[in-house]
Amino acid sequence: MVSRIVLGIPLRIAVASFSHETCTFVPVKTTYDMFKDFIVRGNAIFEHAKTYPNYIRGFMKVAEEEGAELVGILVAGQTSATGYSGWITLDAFDRIVGEILDGLKNSGPFDGVLLALHGAMAVEGVPKPEAEIVRRVRGVVGHIPIMVTLDLHANEDHELAEVADAVFILKTYPHVDSEDIGIIAARCMVKTIRGEFKPVMAFRKPKLVTASIYQATDRPPMKLVYDRCREWEAKGVYCASVAAGYAYADVPDIGASVFVVTNGDRDLAERAAQDISDLIWSLRYEFTKPIPKPREGVAEVLRLVASGVRPVLIAEHSDRIGDGTHVLRELILQGAKNFVIGGIADPNALEWLKNNAKVGDYVKIKIGGWAHPISGEPVEISGKLEFIGSLEYTLVGPMGRGRRVHEDLVALIDMGEGRHVIISKRLRAPMDDQGFKALGIEPRLKDIIVLKDRIHHRAFWDSIVALDYPIDSPGLGPADLTTLEYHNVPDDVYPIGKFWRDKKV
Ligand SMILES: [Zn+2]
Repeated sequence: MVSRIVLGIPLRIAVASFSHETCTFVPVKTTYDMFKDFIVRGNAIFEHAKTYPNYIRGFMKVAEEEGAELVGILVAGQTSATGYSGWITLDAFDRIVGEILDGLKNSGPFDGVLLALHGAMAVEGVPKPEAEIVRRVRGVVGHIPIMVTLDLHANEDHELAEVADAVFILKTYPHVDSEDIGIIAARCMVKTIRGEFKPVMAFRKPKLVTASIYQATDRPPMKLVYDRCREWEAKGVYCASVAAGYAYADVPDIGASVFVVTNGDRDLAERAAQDISDLIWSLRYEFTKPIPKPREGVAEVLRLVASGVRPVLIAEHSDRIGDGTHVLRELILQGAKNFVIGGIADPNALEWLKNNAKVGDYVKIKIGGWAHPISGEPVEISGKLEFIGSLEYTLVGPMGRGRRVHEDLVALIDMGEGRHVIISKRLRAPMDDQGFKALGIEPRLKDIIVLKDRIHHRAFWDSIVALDYPIDSPGLGPADLTTLEYHNVPDDVYPIGKFWRDKKV
């Protein structure tokens, strides 16, 4: 067969994305119905991708430069249940992957496939979902290059390395380089199709699971890891990737992983992967330093505020559902003033307010603490209902700049003495100040801002606040991973595997 390249036909590359970061400790399943209203199909995926930085916009830039044709298949990932759904059902997985396969069959032939995945998807009955997606895609498209981009929180093992031709992973947390990684992946794809690049990939699994709160990439220990990746890239590695891993999915491929892609140099790839893996393992104790609990943490924040450090941003990082009340309770108990809670998720409380109160009313209501016993008890608050309704605003910070946000129901309660609490339907952690300004709150004037987030918010908020202060409330995403009960992880992963728990190091 005469190659399409020899015939001068533009390269045709299929693009699909199916991504989810699944906290398997949330006791509600993620179903197809939760995905379905947000699935984008065909070339409409490029219209959507144009509007903010993401992997697919990176693919588009390279395609334009190189005169390649991208064919949109499907993007799925957003759900109606952000923040409170766990295991993805096999039905949802099969249906969405099935749609990707149908799209590939109907709009081929292709010279390559670019898959923007996440890596921390957890599916009932599919132990390694991303490897399975690539395997099924391979079954349809055959032996053409399939390359994958992943989030820094991916949990992967050798299976993905075996089925994909190349894997490229974000190097930043907050994640601000998805477009750059998309460009690196698409360049590799185009050169590979043209025969100018021969991707060789080495893989290592350093057997280390780390909590997200320790994974900020602008400071040790993670900065040391990515600096080492960049050193190898300066020595001829095409792309050295590390997934820090996602600790809140109880899956067999949990934890850090290393993927190194070179142009045909197996020895270089293996040496780099081993070196980076050894470095990660050597840093394991850096990833378990204790973080203050709510009582001591709030007390310390109040001391800092009194000494003139303000605003302080409390990152209640362990709350994966958004209904956690631990920090709110302590702020009230310890007499904090002039604070704003960026969101307590409570759809029932919101519904009650909508039906029983109007703006300006004095209300008394119990909020939070409904989704899981670990979230804490509901807390009764009282004050003036300052806002209830829908919000529209555009993000201005590095995380998602330009993206329109619609929230169909939000309430703001003014408890007096500058104490403001926002009630939301779902986990709400404004990535910049627009989610506050839309409600008439200027966060710069607050002493304390509480966000249910780990690291992403820092891309914007570090330039606004005097201090970012994580508090380790009881929650489904704690810093101390030994407080969670895992059933599916290997015995030898540090610190949660049976071997290390028994050793009690
Ligand atoms: Zn991530």
